[in-house]
Amino acid sequence: MRGYAQHDTWIQRVVMTRCRFHTVNVSRISLVWQLEIAQSYVPLCYILYSMRFYDTQQGAVIDFRPPAHGPVRMYTCGVTPYDAAHVGHIFTFMTYDILQRRLEDEGFEVRLVRNVTDVDEPIYVRAAENGEDYRQLAARETGRLRSVLDSLHFRPAHAEPLASEYVDQMAEAVKRLLDQGDAYHLDHDIYFDIGKSDDFEASVTIPSRLLVPLMAERGGDPDRHGKRHPLDFLLWKGVTDDDPIAWQTVVGRGRPGWHIECSVMSEALLGKQFDIHGGGVDLVFPHHACERAQTAALTGSPQARYWMHVAPTALYGEKMSKSLGNLVFAHELLEHWQPDTIRLALMSYHYRTGGEWQDERLTKAEAIRSALQTMVSVPELPDTTAYLASIRQALDDDLNIPLVWNQLCCLSRDTDKTDDSDGSRRAALMTIGDLLGLDVVKGLDASQSS
Ligand SMILES: [Zn+2]
Repeated sequence: MRGYAQHDTWIQRVVMTRCRFHTVNVSRISLVWQLEIAQSYVPLCYILYSMRFYDTQQGAVIDFRPPAHGPVRMYTCGVTPYDAAHVGHIFTFMTYDILQRRLEDEGFEVRLVRNVTDVDEPIYVRAAENGEDYRQLAARETGRLRSVLDSLHFRPAHAEPLASEYVDQMAEAVKRLLDQGDAYHLDHDIYFDIGKSDDFEASVTIPSRLLVPLMAERGGDPDRHGKRHPLDFLLWKGVTDDDPIAWQTVVGRGRPGWHIECSVMSEALLGKQFDIHGGGVDLVFPHHACERAQTAALTGSPQARYWMHVAPTALYGEKMSKSLGNLVFAHELLEHWQPDTIRLALMSYHYRTGGEWQDERLTKAEAIRSALQTMVSVPELPDTTAYLASIRQALDDDLNIPLVWNQLCCLSRDTDKTDDSDGSRRAALMTIGDLLGLDVVKGLDASQSS
């Protein structure tokens, strides 16, 4: 069993998982005690399951150990809703959607929180350009995003918190940081003092010399005069003029910085420590480094057990981004292509490498979708149970979705079909659809009942 030493007995695996004795040599624990611990443990999936993925924090592909109790808690940083979602966003979200589906397939409950950053400078700038209220812009784009995700069969999140609904809690967190001496005033603003953090720079797997330019590139202000350290980051922006984008709070009138938003919302909805923290790879620094430092200062514990990031998609050699104006919008693709086709097209990329978006992928994806649609309406099927096993194995191995794509290509062309007399092949095909969020296999219901 991957994730455990070869010599571990099943009881020892239970003990390892149940009590998180990761640093203990379980073989030295008495057999009686091992049995007592094992007896109090119920869900089999927690004993037997092992998945591997790349943990950004550790810089390696490692085993994911499920929590000893309760659901797998996952927080993924959402979008700032000032424009429509593009395929890069959908690729990121779909990675976590398939991860969630695989964990649920294995019997885990997954509690996914995906925030909406509706308190953020780009919204104010775009709203001013449009001549509209920023709340109107944020509500419209948030609604459009939810509609796109629904259309693309995304599992509903446990919660989709809006940053604007947590401003008081954010201000209270900032006040606690001030009171503890972890933050300081600069003019009317409040900054986190990274000098009070044990390992702010060391915790980032990026060379230190790159951090200041990266922070400047990604919305920070390392050059601001008066900061104690260039990497100190904004917790609270004080507003003293008639700027309407401000809240009256325990730290005065103003609005929260971006990073404190996710620390507060994740703690409010998932607790002091949760299992998997995700987002685009551009959030590794500074956003997630800042979150970690704040949360550690506020709660005394690490924010997440695993950090998993998704690489960007590119368009004809250029990273897809709003600033470059080379976006492929999801809602526009939905006007021309089936949702399953779009999902399938994105399955040709690995989450760690991303890749160049090519419209031709849609044509290939449509061929697979069409083949699956034909497959569900005939009595003979290929050996889908073998394909299902391979797909599960690929997903457990660092979420190797391109390998899944290859399996689907083979399945769509497989002519070695036999009558599915016991229904096992149809059931396996249905499970493949559930695992990957493909609605086309739901045609099975109709074909079976007719
Ligand atoms: Zn975030």
